[in-house]
Amino acid sequence: MFSKRLDRITPSATLEMTAKAAELKAQGVDVLNFSVGEPDFNTPNNIVAAAKTAMDSGFTKYTPGSGTHELKEAACEKLKRDNNLIYKPENIIISCGGKHALYNACQVLFESGDEVIIFSPYWVSFPDFVSVTGATPIYVDTNSNCQYEPDFDHLQSKISDKTKGIIINSPSNPTGGVWSDQAIKKTLKIALKHDLWIFSDECYEQLVYDVPFKSIATFTDKKDKILTFQSCSKTYAMTGWRIGYTAGHPEVIKAMGKLQGQSTSCPNAIAQYAAIEALVGSQDMVLEMVNIFKTRRDLIVDGFNSIDHIFCDIPKGAFYVFPDISYFLNKFYKSQKINTSMDLSLLLLKEKFIVTVAGECFGAPNNIRFSYATSEKNINQMIDKVSALFKLIK
Ligand code: PLP
Repeated sequence: MFSKRLDRITPSATLEMTAKAAELKAQGVDVLNFSVGEPDFNTPNNIVAAAKTAMDSGFTKYTPGSGTHELKEAACEKLKRDNNLIYKPENIIISCGGKHALYNACQVLFESGDEVIIFSPYWVSFPDFVSVTGATPIYVDTNSNCQYEPDFDHLQSKISDKTKGIIINSPSNPTGGVWSDQAIKKTLKIALKHDLWIFSDECYEQLVYDVPFKSIATFTDKKDKILTFQSCSKTYAMTGWRIGYTAGHPEVIKAMGKLQGQSTSCPNAIAQYAAIEALVGSQDMVLEMVNIFKTRRDLIVDGFNSIDHIFCDIPKGAFYVFPDISYFLNKFYKSQKINTSMDLSLLLLKEKFIVTVAGECFGAPNNIRFSYATSEKNINQMIDKVSALFKLIK
């Protein structure tokens, strides 16, 4: 009944777990939700106020398909201020979130017969963005002890005549890993040598804790094939507003706009107006959120490392930890065998109402992803419960 295209994609595992948590909550269960991919803060008041002004002023109509000129200018100002990147409005497209932007870019650049490098563990949507174009995702290993930087021998061995693009995501979802300058430079050198399209998904760029963030395009003068994806979602707690933007070569940006114009018409007008305030208004709330996330990160990492047989590296960014739970695989809880990280994730849900996302959804069968976009109280409770449950796994 449905087109073959649909068979090439799988439902988002993270959205499925979020739906499961909402279902349990609706039944009155007191869930501890560690599956969320969004800040638990409200959108800052100045941004909400800007949206109200937009509505009161009648800014409620279609905008140009690729976004308003004013918001593109605001994105340029932000990219210069925070990322030292000099772009003009013709280098920018506004989309309905970073997800939409990444999807569009894959659609305009990749097709059947192409291969696109994705580093594993990967954000659940990357393989689907690539597969739906007809291209093939090619997975490259990373080093879990070193912020999930690439295994460069593996990367070299996976590049062929068919390789058309490479997707980089630092800080990363699901690992929280932030690559060193050296790792970025080495990756860029390989990608530029093979003339690949370089996608840099920087939606967590503001959420770094131990090192300043450097946008990948700042490492080279050869920017023509680099696309930088940023988003208002995580930085400004604006996930529901759906505003993301891409900076890149005007020809690619134009092609993305052509596709966008025939799919979504334009991003939400009110949200675009509010996004100007987000990008060029006060950034105080961002700093506040980052400090809170850092405290939680330290709490959750220490908590996991206090539990026997769990190893949790310190991620330098985003709001995820990705502990290694491999010790518990192939062991038993009562008479139930735990074969996979999904079994363990479901056990946490069933026995302790803790919602997580199994590592296998991200190509990492030895891990589970915990989002710490939740209170310190919830983190402490979760650690106590995980500790008690895991003691019973033999
Ligand atoms: N990229 C990564 C790595 C993400 O984790 C997400 C959201 O979870 C996105 C992109 C898309 O975010 P949005 O579409 O809300 O901008």
